[in-house]
Amino acid sequence: MQPLHVGIPGENYHAGLIACQRACPVHTDARGYVRAIAEGRFDEAYLIARGPNPFASICGRICGAPCEAACRRGHVPQVDDDGRFVAEDRPIAIRALKRFACETAGPEIRPVESVLEAVRHFVPPVAAGADEMAAMIRAAVDGAVPPADGERVAVIGAGPAGLSAAHDLALLGFRPVVFESEPIAAGMLALGVPAYRLPRAVIEREVDVIRALGVEIRCGVRVGDDVSFADLRREYRAVIIAVGAKSSRALGLPGERGPGVYGGVDLLRSVALATPLPLGRDIVVIGGGNVAYDVARTVLRQTARDAARTAARLPGTSRVRLVSLESLEEMPADTIEILEGDEEGVERQHGWGPVSIERDEAGGVTGVTFRRCLRVWDEARRFAPVFDDAATQTLACDTVLLAVGQSPVTSFLADGGADVEMARPGWPKVDPATLRTTGDGVFVAGDLAHGTRLLIDAVASGKAAARAVYTHVTGRVLQTDAVTAYLALPGYRREQGYESIRRVAVPVCDPAERFVHPEVQVETGYDREQAMREASRCLDCGVTPVFDGSRCVLCGGCVDVCPTRCLKLVPLDALSPTADLGRLIEHSLGAGADSSAHSAILKDEERCIRCALCAMRCPVDAIAMERVMFSTQWRAL
Ligand SMILES: Cc1cc2nc3c(=O)[nH]c(=O)nc-3n(C[C@H](O)[C@H](O)[C@H](O)COP(=O)(O)OP(=O)(O)OC[C@H]3O[C@@H](n4cnc5c(N)ncnc54)[C@H](O)[C@@H]3O)c2cc1C
Repeated sequence: MQPLHVGIPGENYHAGLIACQRACPVHTDARGYVRAIAEGRFDEAYLIARGPNPFASICGRICGAPCEAACRRGHVPQVDDDGRFVAEDRPIAIRALKRFACETAGPEIRPVESVLEAVRHFVPPVAAGADEMAAMIRAAVDGAVPPADGERVAVIGAGPAGLSAAHDLALLGFRPVVFESEPIAAGMLALGVPAYRLPRAVIEREVDVIRALGVEIRCGVRVGDDVSFADLRREYRAVIIAVGAKSSRALGLPGERGPGVYGGVDLLRSVALATPLPLGRDIVVIGGGNVAYDVARTVLRQTARDAARTAARLPGTSRVRLVSLESLEEMPADTIEILEGDEEGVERQHGWGPVSIERDEAGGVTGVTFRRCLRVWDEARRFAPVFDDAATQTLACDTVLLAVGQSPVTSFLADGGADVEMARPGWPKVDPATLRTTGDGVFVAGDLAHGTRLLIDAVASGKAAARAVYTHVTGRVLQTDAVTAYLALPGYRREQGYESIRRVAVPVCDPAERFVHPEVQVETGYDREQAMREASRCLDCGVTPVFDGSRCVLCGGCVDVCPTRCLKLVPLDALSPTADLGRLIEHSLGAGADSSAHSAILKDEERCIRCALCAMRCPVDAIAMERVMFSTQWRAL
């Protein structure tokens, strides 16, 4: 019987197994920088992380990290000696490792010019010692995109979407000018995300790099007031609108309008710009997401600082209660936010929907009345809350903060944007592939294009808008190609015991220390030893065993030695026939071959931990470890 390697043919099959890179909206090779950290190549780790992402350092602190959710280590089942499921492992702490790489070799410690040099000459990541692969990839991309002729492009909004668009426009040969209504750049990163999660110096360093690329950022210029949209369309070859969704959504409750009730993002903005709102001492935050937690935890810090300053006059501490419609299990906030909020004293109440805000005769807030929420979502997972009107409670308080979502303000379109059609009030109609609006030369990016999401989605969207502008202005289509390269790894070995190392907890400071100053960093980050240990847990999904059916002697040694039982040797006839299988059999054995005389090795990719034991065990060298890498590249057609 001849063995057969079963797998779907096509060069992207293995690349598709690098789940972290696929999950990242800008396709950062997370596996690449994690492995570089494991091997002590920190500069390279930073360059890999920075390559496709102008906000790598910021992402290292606060990214929602879709890569971690996809990380295969978090899904590999731990099995006992009999192959029974014991537990699931935990994903690699990719975000915290990115922070380590950026802190060690990024703009936090490296001069802007040096970061720029690295960006300009960025070559898609290579594995240790795999220089030939770098050459292959370089050859594929050299001279692939002729630059634009320095045309000016206007970008409205200096948030991550607008700045990422401007960053890539500058690299593509344009002169981008960014108009920002606020006194500082970076949008919600600077005005929403609290400083205890993201130091302001990190934001400034990363924005400095973008400026140094030739991007002009004009802060304190509101489009619609200080310059009209019509003027921008007249004076610039294209306009990208990236104004985000910065207006706090209201609930329309009785008593909502008036003193003592504020939008959550308005509160965060006021703290960021050091123009504090007049908060009381008994505060109710309405909302159950991450923004609600940013608001509640920021208020705790502000009131702790005020109490420290005025301790003689205002003894006692303030109280912050967070009330969500959802149950604890359904609440959209990240678990870490809930845990850290608990540690800091945020009191939670779940399953209550606000009915009215109570005020005294002088108009001051005295409380919020809630009714019981029995169910938030219907069977189709649509938002359709059901309430019990008979079950109500009134929480006494003097301040209410609403963190129930945000919406955009695009009223500036009234002057010069009549041809920009709206999908719904405030939100322009946009082609999701090209980010074009119905207005000629008008594009959108970021939260305004796709609704409120993660920072890294805004970055990806900004980059896509820059590409669309390039096509609009030059007439050349920018194609993105996944450049794939393979490298044989003779003698491949993993670190001893890597499969049983537990996730290294990301260090945080003690809750009591967090209130010393509102900007004390809660997460303190890995040191070198912790980072290398955590990184060494990476399964390195880019490496995979490749089977040569013509050499296999069907001894079954690879199956026996596999610690996760991901391999099986089965007669070909035992497999359910499918079109793919038919094609594979024909490809491997030739048309009309008698498949009953052959066997197949089946591999469960989800379980494989790339330990290479199968390759080491094989007596006839029928199994080789190979590295596959892919990198998204641009080409002008
Ligand atoms: C409180 C909060 C915390 C968050 N935390 C995280 C997190 O931890 N991780 C994560 O991944 N994501 C987080 N996000 C989401 C992330 O910040 C956003 O998805 C991202 O900032 C959206 O980028 P953007 O560029 O589209 O919009 P924004 O960041 O909102 O930037 C838009 C910019 O446009 C400017 N602008 C608006 N109108 C005008 C005008 N007329 N003229 C000139 N300028 C104008 C605004 O002032 C603003 O600077 C958070 C969001 C909030 C609100």
